[in-house]
Amino acid sequence: MTLIAQVEPLTTARARLGPFDYRIPPELSDSVCAGSVLVIPFAGRELLGIVVGLAATSEVPPARLLAPRRAIDPGLPAELVELAGWLAAEYCSTRARSLSLMLPPGTAGGTRPRARLVAALGAAGAAALDGGGSGAGGGGGSGVGPAGGVRLSAVQRKLLERLRDEGPLPASVAPAALRRLEGRGLVELEQRVVGRRPHHAAVGARRAGPAALEPAQRDALTAIGAAVAAGVKRSFLLHGVTGSGKTEVYLRAAAAALEGGRGVIVLVPEIGLTPQTVGRFIDRFGDTVAVLHSRLGAGERHDEWLRLRRGEARICVGPRSAVFAPIDRLGLIVVDEEHDPSYKHEGDPRYDARHVAEHRAGTHGAVLVVGSATPRPESYHRLPRLRLPSRVDGGRLPEVEVLDMRGTRGALHARTADALAELRRGGGKAIVLLNRRGWSNFLFCVSCGRVWGCPLCDVSLVLHRAEALIACHHCGHREPVPGHCPDCGSTSVARHGVGTERLEHELAGALGGPDHPVFRLDGDVAGVKGGAVAVLRRFERAPSGVLIGTQMVAKGHDFDGVDLGVVLDADATLRFPDFRSEERTFALVAQLAGRAGRGPAGRGGRVLVQTIAPGASSIALAARHDSDGFLAAELGRRQALRYPPFGELIRIVCSSEEPGAAFAAAQGLRAELVVPGACVLGPAPLFRLRGRERSQLVVKGGERAPTVAAVGAAVAVPGRRDVAISVDVDPQ
Ligand code: ADP
Ligand code: ZN
Ligand code: ZN
Repeated sequence: MTLIAQVEPLTTARARLGPFDYRIPPELSDSVCAGSVLVIPFAGRELLGIVVGLAATSEVPPARLLAPRRAIDPGLPAELVELAGWLAAEYCSTRARSLSLMLPPGTAGGTRPRARLVAALGAAGAAALDGGGSGAGGGGGSGVGPAGGVRLSAVQRKLLERLRDEGPLPASVAPAALRRLEGRGLVELEQRVVGRRPHHAAVGARRAGPAALEPAQRDALTAIGAAVAAGVKRSFLLHGVTGSGKTEVYLRAAAAALEGGRGVIVLVPEIGLTPQTVGRFIDRFGDTVAVLHSRLGAGERHDEWLRLRRGEARICVGPRSAVFAPIDRLGLIVVDEEHDPSYKHEGDPRYDARHVAEHRAGTHGAVLVVGSATPRPESYHRLPRLRLPSRVDGGRLPEVEVLDMRGTRGALHARTADALAELRRGGGKAIVLLNRRGWSNFLFCVSCGRVWGCPLCDVSLVLHRAEALIACHHCGHREPVPGHCPDCGSTSVARHGVGTERLEHELAGALGGPDHPVFRLDGDVAGVKGGAVAVLRRFERAPSGVLIGTQMVAKGHDFDGVDLGVVLDADATLRFPDFRSEERTFALVAQLAGRAGRGPAGRGGRVLVQTIAPGASSIALAARHDSDGFLAAELGRRQALRYPPFGELIRIVCSSEEPGAAFAAAQGLRAELVVPGACVLGPAPLFRLRGRERSQLVVKGGERAPTVAAVGAAVAVPGRRDVAISVDVDPQ
């Protein structure tokens, strides 16, 4: 009997939906199962395909079916194949695209376990060293000395000693010398598969786990531990102020899960920015932690993935994609800093790792713990709360002062300038948040008013002075800084606004010095591999200094002795026309405040918030550290407007290079869309992006499943070829 495999080809096309039947040749029949990765002939090409099911019969006689060319090890666990089907339906995407997210890293590029020629000390080599008389010592001069009758050069002796002291080494450290030693029977060379373990730089105070938990931590851990032991799905919100010891609760909950034979996933916002959390898990659990993230090389990621797949590692720490880690018998999923926008994926399928985590916890009977000092209204509303109300060791939260910038000129309020100068005199650290990178916001011609804009997007170009160019922050378009206006010829080109690059320059000039350095952390710095960690380390080591940057500086860093926090233009996020702008603003101010005054010597610290909207409630409540007050008010507002969590939102964006086509397509879709109990808003034009006009519909619906299904059906109808449609369920 021939085995038939139902295979989903990994194409991005929406039109060609699998699965398709393939005949499994006898030599593969033992190894192919749901989740197997195959190389298949498909439409005249070779593609990767994933086996989504097996069958004994097919409609077409097996002899007429094509056979896969080969199988690629390792495959996906069957659970992830199921998860991909769910993900596709949940986000109006395709199973192929969902499966592509879950592939073992490097599969498409053909990454293989790496075999390396490794040298080890042979028995004769060890004997030669033991018998050795005079150590060849340091100088490495004349060379030849007797060693138990075996003559060794200084180089050879050193190599043998290294092999004895450090264990096997890659033959590449000294290929010729090791070959000669092998020829004499002193060294053994062999091909070994070697794991590529990523190296993790630890930033932040390394501390052993505390001996005793605070009472609130203990209560939280008890609740989580009981749920893990029960082995049924439960979700909790760990709502704890910054520095209240949430990570310690995650660590102990993970230990409890491991003890029960269960696996753990820990999601963190961005590993490049928060290496501390990863470091603490590695410190506590060693090799049972695998780290998955995109900054690792393909080989490293592949090997880490394999360690999880084989069960050699049982805890995975990583950013949103780690929610697909191949771990069986999951007992706990932690989402740290659950308010962070990076949990939402920006490509199709536009999944939200927090939502996927909840679903996966359900599949495994695992416990989901999402934690934050500034939780999302959705989580606050839906999940049982565990509270950590105060900083560990009774540390105080910083005093926050709101500074009214109306009528002021310049980037800094007088009180901010004073506070920074005082810090300079007395020594100490400050973090300054300005959520705008570059030198200035835009350039304009003083004579005719021309503003330099992106040729592909309807936004202005931002000056990056160090690189002598102006750049689009949406599509990456760059051009040289103009010397004159192409419209009127004038050479008076003015710069408007302040970005992080300029602020760094100005603060370094006013305050900087060898004993009080000024550092910058933003997308430009972090774009260089290791750039962010390097800056964070240098800031941490400096006894005194200023760190300025975009929202990156407000992530969960745990630095001792930050006495001053400053937020510039705190209302910038409020100016976005989005229902989440209040939530974003609150979180940004409260999180930055949370960086100040930490550590054993924490004096509470002080935070200054500059704004032209001092009356905005999100800013006023953040200044009082009143997350309960903010969340209560925000939930009231959302209930009135039927925004999440009181209603579902789906955003549909049509885009096209053809003028007018996107709007027409959106209008057409709107006419087709029949969603019971929901209303459809739009089409509304969005700004042009990457040369494409865009038009948006928003579906505001009551129940998730029927709304998603109706939208999915409407966009599946083949439309104009020159219009691309993207669906964002639960947009952020
Ligand atoms: P959060 O994740 O809530 O910001 P952390 O878990 O990073 O807080 O804790 C802040 C600091 O307090 C860390 O350095 C941590 O090691 C320490 N800490 C946590 N729990 C305790 C405790 N029970 N006793 C003493 N120190 C603790
Ligand atoms: Zn001009
Ligand atoms: Zn652009």
